[in-house]
Amino acid sequence: MIVAVAVEEKVTDEVKRGALPSYFYRLSARAQRVWLKSDAIERLDLQPDAEMLSLAAALVTVVSSGSAARIAVAAQALTDRVCRSLRVRPVKVEVRGVRPHNARGELHGIFYPRGPAMQPGLPLIVLWMRTAQRRDVVKPRTFVRTLMHELGHYLDYVLLGLDDSYHTTGFFKRESFLMRTLLPSAPRSQ
Ligand SMILES: [Zn+2]
Repeated sequence: MIVAVAVEEKVTDEVKRGALPSYFYRLSARAQRVWLKSDAIERLDLQPDAEMLSLAAALVTVVSSGSAARIAVAAQALTDRVCRSLRVRPVKVEVRGVRPHNARGELHGIFYPRGPAMQPGLPLIVLWMRTAQRRDVVKPRTFVRTLMHELGHYLDYVLLGLDDSYHTTGFFKRESFLMRTLLPSAPRSQ
């Protein structure tokens, strides 16, 4: 699982340089169409309201508490609100402690379109709240970005109707769009 994500992140670097990743050419024609469609969409039709913004602000505040239970409640509430606004069914969010890691990096979050292999079922977002080495609680903004990243994978399937969810430049633009929309006044540097 961790190795798969490490490979995923390498692909990410290639995409961020603006070139088509090498794996693109190994995709089927149908998958290439999905990839290009993902890359072409830069934002979502999400209209934030006061309730949504306050749920996002509440999540930022509660991350520092270090309580997985409280963070999970806040992350779920924000996710539910965004899903409701986009008129897609909700997705479960689970918050765990120390990030799994190996020599190549640590796992911030993961999205299972059909539940974990050991327990197949409904889509699931898993987020980790503590760094692997120092076991510090992650920076609130980093945590929210990870949630938006994994939610972005979910929305690729249920909102955009994509057969697969790739780390395209468009995908990262949608992730940033969600961050800007939900945390409009937060500094960009964190
Ligand atoms: Zn991802």
